[in-house]
Amino acid sequence: MKLYEKYPLTVTNSLSGKKEKFESINPGFVGMYVCGPTVYNYVHLGNARTFLTFDTISRYLRFLGYRVRYVRNITDVGHLESDADEGEDKIGKKARLEQLEPMEIVKRYTEDFHTVMREFNILPPSIEPTATGHIVEQVRITQELIAKGLAYEVNGSVYFDVKQYNQLTHNAYGILSGRNIEELMESGRELDAQNEKRDKRDFALWKKASPAHIMRWPSPWGDGFPGWHIECTVMSTKYLGEVFDIHGGGMDLKFPHHECEIAQAQGANDKPPVRYWIHSNMLTVNGQKMSKSLGNSFLPSELFAGTHQLLERGYSPMTVRFFMLQSHYSSTLDFSNEALNAADKGFKKLNAAREIVQQLTHPGGGTSTHTDLEKQLSALCEQCYQTMSDDFNTAKTLAVLFEMASRINDFKSGNASLSLVSAEVFSRLQATYLGFMQEVLGLLPETSGNHALLDGTIRVLMELRKRARTEKNFALSDRIRDELKAIGVQLKDGKDGEMTYSLE
Ligand code: AMP
Ligand code: ZN
Repeated sequence: MKLYEKYPLTVTNSLSGKKEKFESINPGFVGMYVCGPTVYNYVHLGNARTFLTFDTISRYLRFLGYRVRYVRNITDVGHLESDADEGEDKIGKKARLEQLEPMEIVKRYTEDFHTVMREFNILPPSIEPTATGHIVEQVRITQELIAKGLAYEVNGSVYFDVKQYNQLTHNAYGILSGRNIEELMESGRELDAQNEKRDKRDFALWKKASPAHIMRWPSPWGDGFPGWHIECTVMSTKYLGEVFDIHGGGMDLKFPHHECEIAQAQGANDKPPVRYWIHSNMLTVNGQKMSKSLGNSFLPSELFAGTHQLLERGYSPMTVRFFMLQSHYSSTLDFSNEALNAADKGFKKLNAAREIVQQLTHPGGGTSTHTDLEKQLSALCEQCYQTMSDDFNTAKTLAVLFEMASRINDFKSGNASLSLVSAEVFSRLQATYLGFMQEVLGLLPETSGNHALLDGTIRVLMELRKRARTEKNFALSDRIRDELKAIGVQLKDGKDGEMTYSLE
């Protein structure tokens, strides 16, 4: 019997709003698509939470024995500043401001994204397709939608006809977000005279490129570039089939992005594309969504180094991973120094038990005699599976691991004797504790006690530099700054002689 049969999974499906039994389309296989980052800026901690959620989900699916094809895209064109298909392309704008080629911007921020993913031990997806690598397919599906009467061309741009789609599908638009098409007509700005859309609810599949627009491709409608939503429809169905198991993303993408994805795919293929929609909730700061535009976001590197003004000190990547896993993915998670300090302590406890359980050796022999302790330990092992199979409840799984850690500590302190449990039960305890910590939750042993060491060393050098400046030894103070910069440590001088640093 496979583990996924022994521990059947339930998943909260955003389509129904209910917890449902998970059944994959092909037994033993799972296809999962997650909207990846728009690579025009450094990823912030909020973005990282979403990717960490789906990393943990794909890890657990694999742990249960499924073969998972996990597709997470890179958005490198078509994401405009406004959801109403207006404003500049985010990547094009950054390229203009920094006087770089758009693909230089894409490369820089894709690399940063990958670095951050590695720091958090977020595993790479099976396929990481880019929007610019799938222009041909995006043009083709747009042609199909026009041929079916679900899209129309105006002046070199093509728009999806939401009203027409809704009539053909008996009101399917809004199926995911719960938005009512009539209410959508009443809300939002009216179309102005220059707007080409027939209806303000319509959205762009293809946009005509103005002469100044750098990112452009030839199409049957002239030079242009794809809309944002169409890329995900193309890349998900190309690699996972017209109907696939799981589609994920942050809650903020439900509308319009995911609603539009459903409409495009259903319009083109006459079937709903996704069986289970999973949305992970937002990381907030003082109750407000962390976002670049609100100015309350900070970078993982600032969090590790403790250099952001909101931070009292730095925290290691694994402490932050643990902090995020302590809440269920469907709840908001509020960032605070207190919570991170508590997470630091909690994670150390689990780590200490990990070391102990690895070092303990069972005296050997003995078959299960069903002592109370054996029963307790076996029940805890079972609970790890049950809590994770209950809609990937990492918070409850961590609570079970804490309970296991206490039992493990009892063996070390002599409060309990290993002879009370059989070798079989002990090895199950070992495998379950390590398996859930490392493989499922991705919490690796802290390699970076080095992190604190690095932080401490830089602070000593900063003190020396401060002293050099007070003594007007500017040659030495500049030398410290320059030599640190050469190895990737950037010192910043603030007001009143304060000094902070960041790692490049
Ligand atoms: P973007 O690069 O803006 O397209 O966002 C990449 C991913 O990060 C999307 O799935 C967003 O839903 C997600 N995201 C953005 N802000 C937050 C936040 N504060 N908390 C959690 N996820 C977020
Ligand atoms: Zn998407």
